[in-house]
Amino acid sequence: MATIHNATRTPKVPRTAFFIRSFITASPSFTLPNPASRCYILHRINRPKAAMSKAPYFPHSVFSPEGEPVPRVMIAPGRYIQGPGVIDHVGRYVSILNIARVGVLASRRGQQAEGARIMDSLRGRNIDATATTFGGECSLEEIDAQVERLKEENLDCLIAAGGGKCVDAGKCIAYRLDIPVIIVPTLASNDAPCSALSVVYTKEGVSRGTEFFPDSPALVVVDTAVVADADERYLVSGMGDAMATWYEARVCLANPAARTPLGARPTLASCAMGEICAHTLYEHGLEAARSVASGSTNEVLEKVVEANTLLSGIGFESGGLAVAHAIALAYTRIPVVHDNYLHGEMVAMGTMVQLAMEGGDEATRAARFFASVGLPIHLAQLSLSRDNHGAINTLIEATLASNITHNMPMTVTDDVLRNAINVADELGRQVTEDVGDLSYRRLQGL
Ligand SMILES: [Zn+2]
Repeated sequence: MATIHNATRTPKVPRTAFFIRSFITASPSFTLPNPASRCYILHRINRPKAAMSKAPYFPHSVFSPEGEPVPRVMIAPGRYIQGPGVIDHVGRYVSILNIARVGVLASRRGQQAEGARIMDSLRGRNIDATATTFGGECSLEEIDAQVERLKEENLDCLIAAGGGKCVDAGKCIAYRLDIPVIIVPTLASNDAPCSALSVVYTKEGVSRGTEFFPDSPALVVVDTAVVADADERYLVSGMGDAMATWYEARVCLANPAARTPLGARPTLASCAMGEICAHTLYEHGLEAARSVASGSTNEVLEKVVEANTLLSGIGFESGGLAVAHAIALAYTRIPVVHDNYLHGEMVAMGTMVQLAMEGGDEATRAARFFASVGLPIHLAQLSLSRDNHGAINTLIEATLASNITHNMPMTVTDDVLRNAINVADELGRQVTEDVGDLSYRRLQGL
């Protein structure tokens, strides 16, 4: 099932970059597709011609060209390695790729910590390595500057060690350099490490679109001792992101018109991963959060880190997304939310709305879990209220404009969405009254 690297390498063709306008973001500046067609929008970004050395890649045109039956497609990283201390063995893992010279992308802080350990490990295996410092934003400017700096280095592979943006930038840089990427996440706050796509931002940090790659990361190496050292809020946010995976994949599986980010139908395998991801979090999430709070690793933390990173990563990419993520990404358009909350916290709120829209008891179950670990479950916990009409309208408009919203089995209209937001908010308040908000307040430093 794993992607084989270097099997086919397209020749380097200078092109102006095209991006698939994100399946998860929307901009008022371009036309929306007919949701029934499930087409994805091509959005051209104005930039210098020489800046990109590789042709853009669109999975939809490979897997589901217009007018053909849509197949099931599953993709995954070449190897996934997780455990305490594995970061010190990166050199040994890299040896299976038969490479001699490696670039290590990490933030300034990361270069002193995880980057230095990776470099030591590579040198121990006689693998030549050069460090390059990540500027902090996964923007075209940062990506182009890194490519410019690294293109004369004759690298055989790039290791990206850090949080979600460093990881996503690493994938974009490696693609342009025509080399495999290895991901060493230092947080379990999101499911970016395993996927063959990156969310690209403006220099100011506003989501700009999604770039897709033909190869998944060659290796993903997750050191749980490093993850346990990070703030508890990151692991909990990762749980918010991961919990949505099953609810979104099951919607896509049940709706024949739904498409995954690959433009394909979900596989049962990826949906099964989403389901066990949710079970793992419900059963072990709270205990794992406590482990991180005390800075210790144990078997429960291993399970939850795998859920947040591997199960959620494969589950969303090959299982599909729905309105939970559309809402989460729409929240980034509201400054007070964008500036103060993490992706997984916004996804938790989106999941509540999706489950409210679907009806049944699952919304209450999710809300009780989210409250127990400290995720937000009502609007006030994202610094909003139902009376913020401007913000709520922005949220609704951006959500309705997102393709993945229309993976839901029902027709999602302004009224349907507004009603679900209100129902979820009310439920969240009731659950907060019932179980309290101590965890939320502790993680938010209140
Ligand atoms: Zn996500």
